[in-house]
Amino acid sequence: MSRWESLLVVQGHDTRVDQLTHRLETLPERARLVEVGDQVAALDAKAAGVEARRGELSRSQQRLEDEVASLTERANQAEKQLYSGAVSNPRELQALQDDIASIRRRIGQIEDQELEIMELSEPVDAELASLGAERERLDAEGQQVTAALAEYEAAISGDLDAVRRERATAAEAVPDDLWSEYDTLRSQLGGVAIARLVGSTCQGCHLGLSAVEVDRIRKLSPEEKVHCEECGRLLVRD
Ligand SMILES: [Zn+2]
Repeated sequence: MSRWESLLVVQGHDTRVDQLTHRLETLPERARLVEVGDQVAALDAKAAGVEARRGELSRSQQRLEDEVASLTERANQAEKQLYSGAVSNPRELQALQDDIASIRRRIGQIEDQELEIMELSEPVDAELASLGAERERLDAEGQQVTAALAEYEAAISGDLDAVRRERATAAEAVPDDLWSEYDTLRSQLGGVAIARLVGSTCQGCHLGLSAVEVDRIRKLSPEEKVHCEECGRLLVRD
């Protein structure tokens, strides 16, 4: 195996590491998890608004109920007085009866208002129920995606560990003086520093070399350093 062949083996492992790292960083579950988080936040904000509206309606209803209770108490007191026999003056009795009738009318009006509030509450309650169901669905999806993400991350990390171990073993066969240029070319050329020359085609850039250049290279020993005239990558020849 020429020294370039040994470096090409390392390149193969490095390319695999780059691909796995890219997959790890761009797992669609990660993006979906962010989307679900955004949807939950939007839903919670909307639910808070609807909850506030529900709270207003409940407080209004409570106020009306309290008022009915207090008016009923007043009417009961007045009736008790009316039938107690303590009041005998006809004018006072009439005033008491008028008062009771007026309180009962007022109670009737308030009860109509209570019905209106109950009608207004129905769609608000329905919306809250629907928002709650959507929140549960998003929570379930979030948990599902989180579990899937953890599973894929663990699988890719396992593959990465294995490839890195193979890479470390392969790197032992590469002469020390090749690393500096390899690292430089890798950072300059999208991660690929060295490629095989197949026929007259560089497998790094997939461009054909000129006949003159191919002829020149063929006459060199496989150990000689050769760069692709098109992309600048190191070339491995058989
Ligand atoms: Zn090339």
